[in-house]
Amino acid sequence: MAFKFVDNYRERGARKKLVTQLRDERKIEDKRVLDAIGKVQRHFFFDETFWNQAYRDIAFPIGEGQTISQPYTVAYQTQLLNIREGDKVLEIGTGSGYQTCILLELGAVVYTIERQEKLYQRAKLFLTKMGYRPNFFLGDGSRGIAECAPYDKILVTAGAPFVPEIMLKQLKVGGTMVIPVGDEKSQKMVTVMRVSDTDYERIELDTFRFVPLVGDQAW
Ligand code: SAM
Repeated sequence: MAFKFVDNYRERGARKKLVTQLRDERKIEDKRVLDAIGKVQRHFFFDETFWNQAYRDIAFPIGEGQTISQPYTVAYQTQLLNIREGDKVLEIGTGSGYQTCILLELGAVVYTIERQEKLYQRAKLFLTKMGYRPNFFLGDGSRGIAECAPYDKILVTAGAPFVPEIMLKQLKVGGTMVIPVGDEKSQKMVTVMRVSDTDYERIELDTFRFVPLVGDQAW
């Protein structure tokens, strides 16, 4: 595959249109999230042959049976996280690394983990070329990353059968996790806030369809 890092007027225009669509049709309200989507060059994650698909509001195959998430899904999950400058964020499922870039644009310090080695290597290479510097990990993220905890926010970008308890314990008090939970066909977006050492508040939101979270505390 031929990957190229050029931002032409056509791609810039398409990116602007996507932001307008997310704001006006999909009702994403957080301006900081929209600005981040307006900045990150999503076509860099696609072979040049498919640049005409990069700013459509669709998920797209990235190899290894995985997808780059739909822009609406990225905007929706990121908006729920309410990222503040300097937040320490754990992302489970690096995939292409696109969502990672959005978190970094919002000023987060990102710890991102991917279980598929090819995707991990590619995201590491691409993001470094693009000037993004998260902390990359390879392995099963369904147990979180205990050695770097606690986190202000945890974002799971694959569909889980349940909320892993071990991951919840890695949240700071006052911290929030966003995770899609359900079966193989559809998942509810769930937010869990840690309100004290022992208490959590859980809210179920809209329905989505993610690739499965695979691992010890997953499928
Ligand atoms: N956020 C990504 C992006 O912007 O491209 C999309 C992620 S894709 C929908 C979900 C990713 O989660 C896949 O790359 C998959 O390999 C990864 N994944 C699934 N189970 C995992 C696990 N237990 N630990 C780490 N990554 C996992």
